[in-house]
Amino acid sequence: MPSVYELRIDELAAHLLGEPRYRVEQVWRGVWDEGLALEDITTVPKVLRQRLSETFPPALEVANEVASDLGATRKWVFRLHDGATIETVLMNYADRVTVCVSSQAGCAMGCTFCATGQAGFSRQLSVAEVIEQVMFAARVAAPRRLSNVVFMGMGEPLANYPVTVGVVQRLHEYRAMSARHLTVSTVGVAPAIERLAAEGLPLTLAVSLHAANDQTRDELVPLNRRYPLERLYRACETWIATTSRRLSFEWALIDGVNDTDQAMHELAEYAGGLRAHVNLIPLNPTPGYLVRGSGSQRVHEFRLGLEELGVNATVRNTRGRSIDAACGQLAAVTNAHPTRVTLRALHGGAPEAGSAPRQQADSHEAGQTP
Ligand code: SAH
Ligand code: SF4
Repeated sequence: MPSVYELRIDELAAHLLGEPRYRVEQVWRGVWDEGLALEDITTVPKVLRQRLSETFPPALEVANEVASDLGATRKWVFRLHDGATIETVLMNYADRVTVCVSSQAGCAMGCTFCATGQAGFSRQLSVAEVIEQVMFAARVAAPRRLSNVVFMGMGEPLANYPVTVGVVQRLHEYRAMSARHLTVSTVGVAPAIERLAAEGLPLTLAVSLHAANDQTRDELVPLNRRYPLERLYRACETWIATTSRRLSFEWALIDGVNDTDQAMHELAEYAGGLRAHVNLIPLNPTPGYLVRGSGSQRVHEFRLGLEELGVNATVRNTRGRSIDAACGQLAAVTNAHPTRVTLRALHGGAPEAGSAPRQQADSHEAGQTP
């Protein structure tokens, strides 16, 4: 389906032949600067707006919406034209507004602790389907300006490489977003990291490490069998050398699995060599993985231990957990009873009737390197 988000300005102009020249600018500004839906660009005549929105129908239909943190965190399930479903999360903070987008419907990587991985792969998303998630969130966020986009929703962005690159390019060129505000999180597709480094795109890269010995990582992240830690390390070195940017590692702390002192030392050695920043995420519950996240005391100790070993580490919190909107919980469960209670039951998390307890921070946030 054609989408206005996939057009260059000259291509948009071709759809506005016969209209005054300035209409092109008006529509372009409405779409990209103001983030409006076509039918809401009131600077252009109604008939034209209607024609445009018929030519470029929206790619996303809201199938469900849930909110927590007093409305500061919102999650949508969107249905796509072929029935595939994806999830998008909007997080409002005092100093920024972040959207977490899906890059694929499902994911083929099969990480054992991740709800998306447990559910399997449906299909790739298009550039338009990813950008529309951003623009939809931007509209809800208004009058605040959406400031950050993180590719930490469903899917592996580097397994949908051309789309990820296309989206970042457009957000940079047409929405003036820069590297500090665009974060791509990857499970560690080594050759794609090297290729991405050479693109010269303004983005921050986060690598989901979770284990720094091959035996454990093979179990948590099956892709490690294809690109083991040493291979991944070389790709990270290339990223740093080529882009002169720091890298961050994500580490979901799993009780007894990767939160031991030994795991801490392995991580410190791996991350230290690359001078990478570490984002610690307490494991969020998912239905298919019956191991627990580390307790908050252990999370705290683990962070301090890393600091003592010379590695900068931040604990990311678990915003959205109560609505299964936190890291690794996105499985796009749509059903006949799309209530929060149903979602919780299906995801197998702890039942939380009524209002959700406040969660403090944010397990989606970009690993902003200090
Ligand atoms: N596929 C990409 C991006 C989406 S996942 C990637 O894996 O990096 C976004 C982040 O959530 C990743 O760091 C992932 O490892 C993490 N994650 C997955 N399942 C999780 C869970 N149950 N608890 C906490 N983090 C999880
Ligand atoms: Fe896919 Fe990332 Fe989940 Fe792994 S953690 S299954 S790569 S979405």
